[in-house]
Formats: sequence, structure tokens, C-alpha cells
Amino acid sequence: MIQKTTGIVLRVSPFSRTSHVVTWLTPDHGRLTTVVKGALRPKSLFLGQYDLFYRCEVLFYSRERNGAHLIRECSPLDTRPMLRTNWRASVCASYICDLALKVSRPGNESIALFRAVDAGLDLAGNSPSPLVAMLQAELAVLHAIGLSPQLYRCATCGLPVGKAGSEGYGFSCAGGGVLCETCRQKHSHPGVVEVPAASVMLMQHWQRPAAEGDISSPAGPIPDDGTHLVQIGGLLGTFFEYHIHASPLSRRIATDLLH
Ligand SMILES: [Zn+2]
Repeated sequence: MIQKTTGIVLRVSPFSRTSHVVTWLTPDHGRLTTVVKGALRPKSLFLGQYDLFYRCEVLFYSRERNGAHLIRECSPLDTRPMLRTNWRASVCASYICDLALKVSRPGNESIALFRAVDAGLDLAGNSPSPLVAMLQAELAVLHAIGLSPQLYRCATCGLPVGKAGSEGYGFSCAGGGVLCETCRQKHSHPGVVEVPAASVMLMQHWQRPAAEGDISSPAGPIPDDGTHLVQIGGLLGTFFEYHIHASPLSRRIATDLLH
């Protein structure tokens, strides 16, 4: 049976001398792997029809062989040219695609994840700070997979955390977010770190559009001082390690290049 879907190109790998394996993120089939036979032949109908970060319309035969489907046709809906002219934006987008590969599953409907990744790639191309775009996209992906860090209510007792003390907020990656002052003092969680109030406020600011499903336009404020970005980056890195048991090498590379 032939099926039609929309897919974002997450990865293109060589397969035989003239073919490609293309991995897509789709809203209705989750992560979809397709073989593109003869992709590299000079007269291939697929030439220029797909590339990394493109959003395309895809027609494929739904019969799976060795985990891959055979593609029949594809045509680009958005080629995202900004990601090909700005290397920092491209670094950010590459990481977003790698993260999507890690958190997506084949055959699972994943409309929220598709939207988060699609908007994250647009944001990577539009944001004045690709590093901020990367952190915003991470919050949007976490929201899409149901793992948003708790930033307004205490991750232990559920009460609003209120104003931070002079040391900022206690944040527990294992617990899933910020802690109120009482819980912070009552439970001595080994993994609790202190986070300045301004860093938590920035994350709250970026999390709101992520929760509303729209991060496609740059969200201010972008701090002049990179300290908060280093802090938030470190925090989200630990959060990912703890909750998705993965610390992609691509994240370390992107963080090093974008700082
Ligand atoms: Zn509490």
C-alpha cells in the first residue's frame, strides 16, 4: 500500500553505490526510515528533492524490509535555506535533528514532537542566537515527549515555588524541576543544585511558547551575559542524561561551537 506523509529529513546515509537511506520524522509514523533507490544516479527523479533539514511530502510503500520502507516519490515543502548559509544556525539544526533521532520511535504517532522539531529548525534559522534557539528547542522537545521540567511548582510537593531566596532555587534533575524552600530544606536530595533566579526565569520565559506549541519566532530576552546560558545548558544536559538516558555527542559539539 502506498502511504503519504510529511517528513523532516533527520539523516541521510549512503546505501550501496547509488542509493540512500533517509530517516524522517513524521507526525503520523514517528521516525520513518526509507530506502531511496538510485538516488545518486544522474537522471534520478530524487535529485534535489530532499536534503538534511528539509520538510518534504513523502510517498512510500508501507511494506517494511529490514526496518526500512521503499520510497516512491518526494518533493520539498520547505528547504530552509537559512540553515545553509549560516554555519551557527546549521550547527544548532544538526543537533536538533540528532536529538529528534534519539527521542523518536518508529511507528508512533508523534504530532507534538514533529511540531517541536519543525519549529525548532525554523527558529535555528531565524534566531539572533542559535545557542538560545538550541535551548528553546530542547525545552519544546521535552514538552512534546511529556518530560517538561517543572519550573513554576515544586517538583516534590506541587506547591507554587514563589520567590527565590538569595541563593536562587534548588533544582533537582532527578525530581524533575525546581523545589520550594521547605522541600529543599526538608529533603537533602544528593543531586540538588542551586540555580540563580534569573536562569529559572529565562527558562520559564522560553518554556511558555514551547508549551503553547509555537517556538517558531525568536523569544526575548536574550541575556548579554553568557553565564546564564552556560548554567541552563548544563542543567538541561543533566536533565536529558537523567530522563532520556542519553547525552548525545552532538550536544557537546554544538555547545562547544556555539559558545
Ligand atoms: Zn515543595
